[in-house]
Amino acid sequence: MSQSMSELSNAAGVELPREVSGVATPEDEVVETSLRPRSLGEYIGQPKITTNLKIFLRAAKARREALDHVLFFGPPGLGKTTLSQIIAHEMDAPLKPVSAPAIERGGDLAAVLTNLQEGEVLFIDEIHRLKPQIEEVLYSAMEDYQLDIMIGQGTAARSIKLDLPKFTLVGATTRAGLITAPLRGRFGIVFHLDFYSRKDLEIIIHRSAEILGVEIEASGASELARRARGTPRIANRLLRRVRDYAEVLNDGRITQAVARRALDEMEVDRFGLDEVDRKVLTTIIEKFDGGPVGVGTIAASISEERESIEEIIEPYLIQIGFLNRTPRGRVCTPAAYKHLGFPSPRRGTSLLAS
Ligand code: ADP
Repeated sequence: MSQSMSELSNAAGVELPREVSGVATPEDEVVETSLRPRSLGEYIGQPKITTNLKIFLRAAKARREALDHVLFFGPPGLGKTTLSQIIAHEMDAPLKPVSAPAIERGGDLAAVLTNLQEGEVLFIDEIHRLKPQIEEVLYSAMEDYQLDIMIGQGTAARSIKLDLPKFTLVGATTRAGLITAPLRGRFGIVFHLDFYSRKDLEIIIHRSAEILGVEIEASGASELARRARGTPRIANRLLRRVRDYAEVLNDGRITQAVARRALDEMEVDRFGLDEVDRKVLTTIIEKFDGGPVGVGTIAASISEERESIEEIIEPYLIQIGFLNRTPRGRVCTPAAYKHLGFPSPRRGTSLLAS
């Protein structure tokens, strides 16, 4: 009798990684280098962003100025890093990527800023995680291209101003609510990335399959796109996993049947939900009568990090209409009840009151 992948892993007591998380794994980081679109022309989807960005880039280039500072909001895996690389490429400028948690002291940021070249693009990922005193150093750097630093200590301490080259700061964050108003106000251009449509994901999957040398039928790509949670990183990851199944079960060609079987085995359902998503929804329905319930309580009930619920799990469940965020907490919608096979919520319950 054949065993499924999940049966095997559970029997061995091994936890499989979440295939449908938008957060990059070390393997993603290696493969993504070859899959990343390099120019705006190659970038698929997010039409509002690409249309506007094209104009801003053209205007900045015509004026021979650095592009205004840009802030990208959006869940992980939607293309924020890719867009920062595209901005540098389109401006013919070098790119300096840093992650906010790696900047521990003001001196770390000063070192990065003073080493920038004229026009360089400084990409700060997870910018909401900058420490407040470091964020303040950034204010004058962004506004006046000046760095105020203190040298010496005690009575000998004095502040000096250093001129910085005109650079473009590109900030990325998964948490719009955690950016302070003074920082946000210093970005001239602010973009929200949306989840991708199924059509756009199909195009991304075909493009990635071509780069990876994988044969995929249109119906196979469509099945993958349906279950990729509107996220290119997940689409690319599922493509690589399903390729393994196709090589073992078929002749390497990804058909709809192979894609379905592989994704079912991985327990990624037809809405792209996995075990963790289903656990969140089931817990709200079974333990909290469908909600409203606070996200901290949900996190404690299922032993998940509150952050990962807010950043990764919840945005997609809200997007597909399975969850509502209300002032009193999270509420499951009738669509979630139906999808999980629960009878419709009763009239007059807290669900309808919220
Ligand atoms: P983020 O920084 O938002 O977490 P990334 O920019 O690292 O996301 O994107 C993750 C991966 O998804 C990239 O390596 C790239 O292969 C793919 N990707 C993202 N956006 C697009 C797009 N618009 N078109 C094609 N591939 C994309």
